[in-house]
Amino acid sequence: MDLLKKYIVEKGEFVSDNILKVDSFLNHQIDPELMMEIGLEFKRRFADTKIDKVLTIEASGIAVGVMAGYVMHIPVVFAKKKKPSTLSNEIAVKKVFSFTKDMFYEIMVSKEFIVPGEKILIIDDFLAHGNAAIALADIVKECGGEVAGIGIVIEKGFQNGGNLIRESGYRLESLAIVDSIKNKTIKFL
Ligand code: 5GP
Repeated sequence: MDLLKKYIVEKGEFVSDNILKVDSFLNHQIDPELMMEIGLEFKRRFADTKIDKVLTIEASGIAVGVMAGYVMHIPVVFAKKKKPSTLSNEIAVKKVFSFTKDMFYEIMVSKEFIVPGEKILIIDDFLAHGNAAIALADIVKECGGEVAGIGIVIEKGFQNGGNLIRESGYRLESLAIVDSIKNKTIKFL
């Protein structure tokens, strides 16, 4: 997706050789027009697949997930990272290791919102080692749903998440695949 690559090149910042900062349009300040283009691109890429719902993860997945759900006319569920007192129904919980924060955290979804037989499109902002995406897929399966596909805004092709997900048999669509961010230069695959 050329527009997204342009944003990454022009506005992306380098935290290290393996972490990219895109706070000016995706992770802190949000560019709604780019989000809409991303939603439309996910719709185009998964046009041949039946999808009942989008599942994403708070916080940065929500903007892209909502745009995708809006253009596909389907609801959007986001996995929570903290259990609020209002989440009283039966929940599916998975532990995820965050390599950017170097810690484990839990994500949870109420089984009220993913029900057996539903076809779920998982959407997230970044794909690094695949821990978040695999945990979301495991939640879908625990709820009795089916993973229709996984849509990622920025895949870092030099980390192993993409291979892990494809080898696990999931359909993966990444809108930009970054091959390297060495020496403060971004190369796309
Ligand atoms: P994974 O679970 O695939 O290892 O990492 C994916 C999650 O980590 C994403 O949800 C995202 O929040 C965060 N993440 C991974 N790599 C990056 C990165 O280079 N930049 C930013 N901003 N977040 C990242």
